Amino acid sequence: MTAARKSNLIKGATGDWEVVVGMEVHAQVSSDAKLFSGASTEFGGAPNDHVSLVDAAMPGMLPVINAECVRQAVRTGLGLQAQINLKSVFDRKNYFYPDLPQGYQISQYKQPVVGEGAVVVDLANGESVTVGIERLHLEQDAGKLLHDQHPTYSYVDLNRSGVALMEIVSKPDIRSSEQAKAYLAKLRSILRYLGTCDGDMEKGSLRADVNVSVRRPGGPLGTRCEIKNVNSIRFVGQAIEHEARRQIEIIEDGGAIEQETRLFDPDKGETRSMRSKEEAHDYRYFPDPDLLPLELTQAEVDALKAELPELPDEKKARFTAAGLSGYDADVLIAERATADFFEAVAKGRDAKGAANWVINDLLGRLNKEGIAIEQSRLSAEQLGAILDLIKDGSISGKIAKDLFEIVWIEGGDPRAIVEARGMKQVTDTGALEKLIDGIVAQNPDKVADAKANPKAIGWFVGQVMKASAGKANPQAVNELLRAKLGL
Ligand code: MN
Repeated sequence: MTAARKSNLIKGATGDWEVVVGMEVHAQVSSDAKLFSGASTEFGGAPNDHVSLVDAAMPGMLPVINAECVRQAVRTGLGLQAQINLKSVFDRKNYFYPDLPQGYQISQYKQPVVGEGAVVVDLANGESVTVGIERLHLEQDAGKLLHDQHPTYSYVDLNRSGVALMEIVSKPDIRSSEQAKAYLAKLRSILRYLGTCDGDMEKGSLRADVNVSVRRPGGPLGTRCEIKNVNSIRFVGQAIEHEARRQIEIIEDGGAIEQETRLFDPDKGETRSMRSKEEAHDYRYFPDPDLLPLELTQAEVDALKAELPELPDEKKARFTAAGLSGYDADVLIAERATADFFEAVAKGRDAKGAANWVINDLLGRLNKEGIAIEQSRLSAEQLGAILDLIKDGSISGKIAKDLFEIVWIEGGDPRAIVEARGMKQVTDTGALEKLIDGIVAQNPDKVADAKANPKAIGWFVGQVMKASAGKANPQAVNELLRAKLGL
């Protein structure tokens, strides 16, 4: 373990503190059917529309494992560089809750399907940290209670009951709220690349339980509190910031942290107690007698490994090898659709130029419109054509920006638009010389400036560009001006 980084430490009244964070992330498996029944997992159905007799825990019903959910868990394990356990066991986790009709959750306890792995997290400041994965196990989701439908009754919707979840448990390797947010973002990105979870936090497809404790830098671990079901990356950061401060204040006031489960209130930006350790459940885990141990062969695992898509880390390595900065690569790989778009534009073209246009112009424009890249009004082919027009000298970078706007709004073939609207830049030296001669003749003072300070040539370039309505080739203008002014 690396020494505590000074920049991560939190200043208390009595000195510095280090926050230690581990996360348990519940990720809904992308699959048409539930973990142990054929009922649909579709989001947004009418209450209790997607409930089989198994999900409703009718007496005598038996669970049957959904092989696709198992494959998804294995794919995820492989994407997390983790140990795949060829034999794993489903256990019953016993507790009563009105939205859990079985009276127990089928989960995995001592023998999960996926063991230890690692996620490399690149931070905004250029540093990277490796967060260990402790395990990944498969389990059922519970239903949902509706308390606002009737004045005196609560209703239950079992549509989610039995939906497959992957619980991904990290090691307590996270040392700041920034790292925690970056870890969750990276994990979500990996899941999306793999296609094993849609990562939609608003729909509850991804929820984080965040374990937070504080200690003196390098000292023994403190008592932790668990913040349950945080449903946005931003809230994870806020919850950790608040919780660390709360714990530091208690300890510095001479108190002790009680191990407990807490909830984050996004409106107040604070955590509050939900249940203490005294109320902690004894889940009386035991192997589910309705299910055989889950056995995989190495050949099955190898076949899934062979089909894995390229993941964010590999993509980043390839992009930086092509000349992109780490920052640009991070922006482009965050979403697979963005990376795909960039690759289509960059194919056979200058990678750096393509990256600049995708990041600054396209993503900027999408952001302004509040739409995703899948809804872009400019295709990769059209953007590629604009880049080609710049490269072959047909248009200047400035005109290219105008062309981008025109194509965005009106569509069409960029090359045809340039021809039809006379947007081609002027490289005809004769025509440019005429413009330059005029401007030089009218501005003897500026000529003197430029002779004294060659940087002042920029003023002339600007004038020529203006006089040509942006169509003059800046390189040709520069060369001609240098010759005329004797620089
Ligand atoms: Mn769980």
